Amino acid sequence: MRTVLITGASSGIGAACALELASEKTYRLLLCARRIDRLDDLCRQIQQINPACEVHRFKLDVRNADEVATTLSNLPAEWKNIDVLINNAGLSQGFDPIQTGDIGDWDRMIDTNVKGLLYVTRQVLPMMEGSKNAHIINLGSIAGKEVYPNGNVYCATKHAVDALNKAMRIDLLPKGIKVTAINPGMVETEFSEVRFHGDKQRADAVYEGLTPLSGKDIAELIVFALSRPAHVNINDLLVMPTVQA
Ligand code: NDP
Repeated sequence: MRTVLITGASSGIGAACALELASEKTYRLLLCARRIDRLDDLCRQIQQINPACEVHRFKLDVRNADEVATTLSNLPAEWKNIDVLINNAGLSQGFDPIQTGDIGDWDRMIDTNVKGLLYVTRQVLPMMEGSKNAHIINLGSIAGKEVYPNGNVYCATKHAVDALNKAMRIDLLPKGIKVTAINPGMVETEFSEVRFHGDKQRADAVYEGLTPLSGKDIAELIVFALSRPAHVNINDLLVMPTVQA
């Protein structure tokens, strides 16, 4: 059994990963996010798929370095050894040119997508020391490979994730820890609603006229990356909806 920690497990790709991993029957799941009620719903779904799946869920805001350190170091003894970290918590907020961008939106994106990922990774690495099969999955994006109009700060944060993924691979090579970036194009989740501050009409319009990826599409790729033989590491995977330019 491998123990997996998923950040941002309360919706979208993170929740889909939890369900996909639960159905594999070879993973124990540590699930965190800010919305604990959503994690409770997810735990109930996991119980239906695999009643034997061991799950521990807890509240965590990845932007708060102290909270990350305290919460992770106070996990119950049976959850202190981690094999897999899925750095998934992230968001895009606002969709404006730099000259009118909202500073609060910028802070939330940088604090979550970049600093939050660093805080969690730094705290989890000592917890991976005893693992024979350690692996970090970083959720990047096509926005970490390209820049599009009004994508400015979100694209910058995902370019940072791209750089950090490469940096982790170099730094962790001597420890034998695998590192993989999964970089999706458009995935239908709560992402758009968060981007447009809850404006559902604007959010839904994003998916009009194309079939986006689903959270499950991404979760399946993550399970695939995690299940490669010991000598195989997938460094970087770019996956797009077939019709997205
Ligand atoms: P969702 O909005 O559905 O999920 C985002 C998750 O991140 C939620 O579970 C949310 O939980 C969590 N989260 C946000 N802020 C924090 C925080 N401060 N602390 C802890 N958890 C937090 O979007 P997706 O599933 O689509 O996004 C998952 C990842 O995939 C993100 O990194 C995103 O950038 C990336 N991505 C998404 C794409 C898309 O088109 N959807 C495309 C490419 C990449 P809660 O609010 O409960 O804390």
